[in-house]
Amino acid sequence: RVHNELMDLKGNIRVYCRVRPVLPMERKRSSTDALDVTSFPVENEIEITRDEASTNRFEFDAVFAQKSTQEQVFEDISPLVTSTLDGYDVCIFAYGQTGSGKTFTMEGSRENPGVNLRALQRLFQLRHDRREEETFAFSVSILEIYNESVRDLLARSDAGPGPRAKLDLRVASNGTVFVQDLQSVQVDCMEDVEVAMRRAQGNRAVGAHSMNEHSSRSHLVFMLSIEGRNHITGLKTRSKLNLIDLAGSERVSKTDASGDRLKEAQNINKSLSALGDVIAALGDAKARQQHVPYRNSKLTHLLQNSLGGGSKVAMFVNISPVQINAPESICSLNFAARCR
Ligand code: ADP
Ligand code: MG
Repeated sequence: RVHNELMDLKGNIRVYCRVRPVLPMERKRSSTDALDVTSFPVENEIEITRDEASTNRFEFDAVFAQKSTQEQVFEDISPLVTSTLDGYDVCIFAYGQTGSGKTFTMEGSRENPGVNLRALQRLFQLRHDRREEETFAFSVSILEIYNESVRDLLARSDAGPGPRAKLDLRVASNGTVFVQDLQSVQVDCMEDVEVAMRRAQGNRAVGAHSMNEHSSRSHLVFMLSIEGRNHITGLKTRSKLNLIDLAGSERVSKTDASGDRLKEAQNINKSLSALGDVIAALGDAKARQQHVPYRNSKLTHLLQNSLGGGSKVAMFVNISPVQINAPESICSLNFAARCR
């Protein structure tokens, strides 16, 4: 029984590595800059060379090489996505340094949508296919965590787009963690989802930093809540699909940053390591029974109900193929290896 439990726990956390292609801009620079640092000795292994003296090898549930497509990536995690209709809570994270391909993986581009839109599309399709037996209601919340504050990206304001008030995390009497006053909008088609995403984008971008800078310093959480009702059995289910584009994992040295920038960096560090601690504890049967440190960051506290229990977690560790990024890539791979 203990053995089975252990297998189940391990089975609920999947870690994938995705290496983005060398960008045209990088190719133009000196050729030594864009060395191919990665090779794939075995299908799900990655080997990365920092310098002649050290080569590191990592194993994951899957490694997506430079040429992998958005379709391939989505097909691999689609069973996780569809299990939300059977009542499972799911979290899918993208982790990596700024510029490594997190937003490309989750959001994608107009021509080449990522996990988020593909997941929604698949769920709408399945909802339609199962309509004879089951009814599902979908609603969406979009929020960000910046400097350990939660902000609702769907909240409207008379003042127009811009940063929203900080919201509090609360614990309901049944132990469920929720965000007080968080907006949630019902979505019935892809158009509804795109409207919500555009509204979130508008609320996020305004401020002193450029959009890119800001997005690299905050966690973006796209939360789909699903309520199902089976017409035949009368059974009701509630579940959540959480899609998270994490803040950039790059280390910031105290000599390079001061004031607000240093504080931001420390908050990012704190929440990413808290996430690593929680996932590592969930994957370790002993630690899991003792204490899972959800409360150490806003992100893990917010996701507490969707990380523990029978929930399923997937982590993409996004990697740049460029030699100068090798030290950061190795840090990201070490983080991911710990999650596994
Ligand atoms: P991050 O969100 O981690 O900062 P981005 O997703 O913005 O990184 O990616 C950085 C750049 O690389 C963007 O121009 C993006 O379009 C491009 N890119 C990332 N991953 C891929 C990929 N798999 N295929 C093609 N281009 C990619
Ligand atoms: Mg990004």
